[in-house]
Amino acid sequence: MGALLLHGGEVYDPRSGGSHGGRRPADVLLVGGRVAAVGTNLEVPDGGDARDCSGLVVAPGLVDLHTHVFVGQDLGVDPDVVGPPAGTTTFVDTGSAGAHLFGAFRRGTIDRAGSRVRAFLNIASIGATSILLAGELETLAYADEDVCIAGAREHADRVIGIKVRASGNVVGRSGAEPLHRARRVADRLGLPLMVHLGPAPPGSDEIMATLRKGDVLTHCYTGFEDNRLSVGGRVRESVLEARQRGVVFDVAHGMSAFDAEVASEMLAAGFRPDTISSDVHAYSLDAVGDLPTVMSKFLALGLGLDEVLACATYAPARHAGLAAEGVGTLDVGAPADVAAFELVEGPVAYADTRGGTFHGRRRLRTALTVRAGVIVHEALKEGRQ
Ligand SMILES: [Zn+2]
Repeated sequence: MGALLLHGGEVYDPRSGGSHGGRRPADVLLVGGRVAAVGTNLEVPDGGDARDCSGLVVAPGLVDLHTHVFVGQDLGVDPDVVGPPAGTTTFVDTGSAGAHLFGAFRRGTIDRAGSRVRAFLNIASIGATSILLAGELETLAYADEDVCIAGAREHADRVIGIKVRASGNVVGRSGAEPLHRARRVADRLGLPLMVHLGPAPPGSDEIMATLRKGDVLTHCYTGFEDNRLSVGGRVRESVLEARQRGVVFDVAHGMSAFDAEVASEMLAAGFRPDTISSDVHAYSLDAVGDLPTVMSKFLALGLGLDEVLACATYAPARHAGLAAEGVGTLDVGAPADVAAFELVEGPVAYADTRGGTFHGRRRLRTALTVRAGVIVHEALKEGRQ
């Protein structure tokens, strides 16, 4: 963990410039696992290493707000395998583990991974295990409030919120009861609540009524006919009110939650995502690709480069409570987590998760990933040093 100079790039700083940050030509110097300086004509200290980042966008390492990285569980992918080629250095696991498996998740993955891992704890003690067989909330007894609270308190340094998959295919006959239990648990702990949107019940209006400032609605562009957030080109009133209150709307592409028509309709109505996440897991890898691909889909849908970068760096870090320690930023003193991207020009075809296709003109390709000051992925063009 010596010194590393990334020179000649176009540095994206989420905290400068416009509302989504800004880009400027600069060098980034990393020393001792921290950002030491961002500026022009920086020199690499003796014995340090350097990389030429000309032609690349140099950004904070990506922060993926919706993932499943409980290694060894059926959904789990290894963050240290999928992270480096994507440029993702921070993973927020969203309910893979409940209270009764969190110790295993922690010992096997969180404490061992090179990637930073934080988690929303599932209201169901069994977590999101074996989801292709049955929903974890069909048996309501697993949604025990005291058990969930005890687990969150035991792992308070890693649990950043409570997750509930409040949809008909998960809750069975439990209806909205798991949603209300998760609400009470989050309130007792003083943590945010993340609610996944899928087929009803509960209906989206009931979900919105449950959410408060700082809570996260994930899978916001889902296309389930009975529960989509826009109808006939209009975003539901309850959704607009929730945004007004400060509820966070997260993409979480996944294997079935990204409908390009719904996304286009909502974007045309001015309803932009607060955060862009992948919902990467063992069953969604093919549909998702990686987080830069999901970000590139939003470039294709008309968002600007600064905005998609903000939505996958500082914004999720802030909503995960990690921005205060510099995650998702290139502030001096921040963790030396950096990703450099090439913006590849040229036509690209995309699929959504409902069989739809759409086209873009450019895409992000991860060229370099640095985690805690160490290069963990390098795909620079030939001849660069
Ligand atoms: Zn998920």
